[in-house]
Amino acid sequence: MSGKVIVFNHPLMTHKLTIIRNEVTNTKDFRETVSEIANLMAYEATRELPVKEVEVKTPIALCKSTMIEGDIVIVPILRAGLGMVEGIQRLIPQAKVGYIGLCRNEETLEPELYYEKFPSNIADATVFLVDPMLATGGSCAKAIEILKARGAKRIIYMGIVGVDEGINKVREQHPDIDIYLAAKDEKLNEKGYIVPGLGDCGDRLFGTK
Ligand code: URA
Repeated sequence: MSGKVIVFNHPLMTHKLTIIRNEVTNTKDFRETVSEIANLMAYEATRELPVKEVEVKTPIALCKSTMIEGDIVIVPILRAGLGMVEGIQRLIPQAKVGYIGLCRNEETLEPELYYEKFPSNIADATVFLVDPMLATGGSCAKAIEILKARGAKRIIYMGIVGVDEGINKVREQHPDIDIYLAAKDEKLNEKGYIVPGLGDCGDRLFGTK
């Protein structure tokens, strides 16, 4: 099955994006707004979650309805992905959280795994892989490869800003994965930053600059 690329074009989303793009936005507002964007994105990205039929007794009558079926796991790529977790958890409080830590191998220049921790149900769950910036796509593609190797069969990637280079890389290596982005930007600069982007998302989330 071929995955989709969904780029949001919604006034609420672009309003919030403008806030986090602004270089004068402080750490608290940046963090809160990233979380709000993740929350809005999760509403749409969960549209095709499996559901089961249930019967519920309202104060008036018995009726048939549906509830989410199966487990959901949120997997942030450390560290910027952490900024998206709470916003998704607000919508899906039953979701479990796994972690992937990747660093750059200075010889091969390829992303390398330095930390992983997943809940035991990863193989049967719907996995939301989150990382705000889809730049070269190397980390995202590697994280998907690791999740698949651990048995995950249904993976959805959610990022905030991406560029064609990253989108194409993920699609070439993992054509089955749905990609959700709040915005698609112009290009990467010579240092690998997205232009216009929002700067270093990890630094802005955690105040490390
Ligand atoms: N990672 C970031 O935090 N920002 C970019 O622009 C690209 C990658």
